[in-house]
Amino acid sequence: MLSAIQPTGEMHLGNYFGAIQRWVELQEEHECFYGIVNYHAMTMPYKPKKLQENTWNMVLDLLAAGIEANNVFIQSLVPEHTELNWILHCFCSYGELGRMTQFKDKSQQANTKDTYVSAGLFSYPVLQAADILMYKADFVPVGRDQDQHLELTRNIAQRFNHQVGKEYFQLPEVMYSQTPKLLSTADPSRKMSKSAGPKHFIPLFSSKEQIQRQIRSAVTDTGNTPAGEMSEGVKNLFQLLKACGAHEASDSLMADYDSQSLKYVDLKSEVTDALITFNQPMVERRQELQARRKEVKDQIKASSAEIRKVAQTTLKEVKQLTGLINPR
Ligand code: ADP
Repeated sequence: MLSAIQPTGEMHLGNYFGAIQRWVELQEEHECFYGIVNYHAMTMPYKPKKLQENTWNMVLDLLAAGIEANNVFIQSLVPEHTELNWILHCFCSYGELGRMTQFKDKSQQANTKDTYVSAGLFSYPVLQAADILMYKADFVPVGRDQDQHLELTRNIAQRFNHQVGKEYFQLPEVMYSQTPKLLSTADPSRKMSKSAGPKHFIPLFSSKEQIQRQIRSAVTDTGNTPAGEMSEGVKNLFQLLKACGAHEASDSLMADYDSQSLKYVDLKSEVTDALITFNQPMVERRQELQARRKEVKDQIKASSAEIRKVAQTTLKEVKQLTGLINPR
């Protein structure tokens, strides 16, 4: 298993229910590699100090969510990722990258008068392919927003295998959670995302007050829902309720909805309670980890060094296969 998260801000409910919760479960039966992909976080305008702070905070977020330290690496501590990235660039076409919808969306966000659309933003899906193929992953547990990137990874792997005349790379399969796409509660026409600004995500480690505030102001009716259909905002609140495991409350409120007696204020209050019950143990665990931050940092540097050994083996093989000279 390979998956990764960008250190671009606080981990949010979309990341957790869409991916991380699954990462935690998969650790029991599989060999797992979970990356904090700081090279990816440079593709959009960013501040160096903040990137460093976000990277260590993401370590705490992951461990508090239940990820084992041994399975975590920081991408820049495994620089082989950038070397494989270059090699795979030569197995990816310019046209394919131009069709990536994430590039289209994010380049609009980055293209303001104070900044520019970086070449890194255009080609980071190849770096992502390198992240995945490096560990010969069979499965990649991610949210639905990564479909197109996974398809690109498979294309690159196939082209590479064809060129070197060997089935060297596995073709990785995507693996979804029960909540593959959580929406922004402030604007249910878009996905919840840390890259989109603070009102578009609810941090997993939010205080009770913050959860209350953000759920209270969640948009329920957008005005363009066809008659007789549930609006995206309301569906999203039901998704949250189920993701927290509050199935009884969800069934009972759904019955109210069917009989047209559902009050949104009741739905919001159940969602708020369910989220608080769900996240408080994790909030406490994160506080404990924060108190021994130094020790945690050393642990992750050591796990990254261990994981790097796997990457070094892959890279040596890849260089051999592609006719590049290896160091002794
Ligand atoms: P973000 O879009 O918040 O910057 P990342 O790109 O770091 O998130 O994604 C980390 C993981 O979280 C990926 O597996 C991604 O598919 C998943 N993910 C991100 N946003 C959502 C969402 N709104 N719903 C479900 N999964 C999501």
